[in-house]
Amino acid sequence: MPLIFDIKRYAIHDGPGIRTTLFLKGCPLRCVWCHNPESWSPRPQRLYKRSRCIGCRTCVEACPNGALGLTPEGIRPTGAPCSLCGTCARECPAAALEISGRAWPMDELMAEVEKERGVMARSGGGVTLCGGEPLMHPAYTLELLQELGRRGFHRAVDTTLYAEPDVVRSVAAQCELLLVDLKLMDSAAHRRFTGVPNGQILDNIRLIASLGVRYFIRIPLIAGVNADAANLEASARFLASLPQKPEEVDLLPYHDIGKGKHERLGTVYNPEKIPMAAPSEEDLSRSHRIFEAFGLSVRTGA
Ligand code: SF4
Ligand code: SF4
Repeated sequence: MPLIFDIKRYAIHDGPGIRTTLFLKGCPLRCVWCHNPESWSPRPQRLYKRSRCIGCRTCVEACPNGALGLTPEGIRPTGAPCSLCGTCARECPAAALEISGRAWPMDELMAEVEKERGVMARSGGGVTLCGGEPLMHPAYTLELLQELGRRGFHRAVDTTLYAEPDVVRSVAAQCELLLVDLKLMDSAAHRRFTGVPNGQILDNIRLIASLGVRYFIRIPLIAGVNADAANLEASARFLASLPQKPEEVDLLPYHDIGKGKHERLGTVYNPEKIPMAAPSEEDLSRSHRIFEAFGLSVRTGA
């Protein structure tokens, strides 16, 4: 069963109203700026937050495999295999260790979602599936969407659309809103910054624009990567040419919150040291004007 690595309540940036967002583990992309690198692997992972660690050695002694050691730099793997049993995280008195990713039986997951039914209903919200990439697990994502639909929740899916067209069609038929990432129009640049080319993604955007489904486009705006006028104009021209334009284009200014997550995973953020920065106010205004000039509804998101 696919794993969920976070359940975010009271989410206000993942579709209309107040929402509960379910984060599925596993993604085929490797965006350099990714906010959630713990979503990349579909398997569970151990995270360690050094700033919380009090150096008590409880985890070292509790680990049945001798996989952890205390060093002047904090807890480090010893090289012995970690079975991801979670004992260290359960025993840690400071919540410095965590196992990311848990399989949720459907009834337990629905019980979690139902807790916020009133808030969602009053705010016009619902449930958003996010990741990672939910379309990487088509059978599970469809089962989840069908169950949410049976219960009358508004369903949104946040996706890269890097998936087979049949999967895109099936998921589009089982939700009320798609939140689709668009990163770069040049395929070689897309591959450089995300690990995959963009042909399938653009084809799938054309596909959903022909299906009559509601969709928003979300563009992470990163100076040094995609915030240049040439890329934004190409993006706007492409979106304006579709049979059904996106209901809105959300520009999401760059943030480096993925950095801390990489540290907790023991992996390296932006290993090639690609210069990336948040767009200036001037860049943001210019970006708005570009999309508006193509007749698109644009706003700055978060
Ligand atoms: S998850 Fe289990 S095996 Fe892995 S380090 Fe923690 S206690 Fe040891
Ligand atoms: S149990 Fe927690 S606080 Fe204690 S050494 Fe291990 S990670 Fe640090």
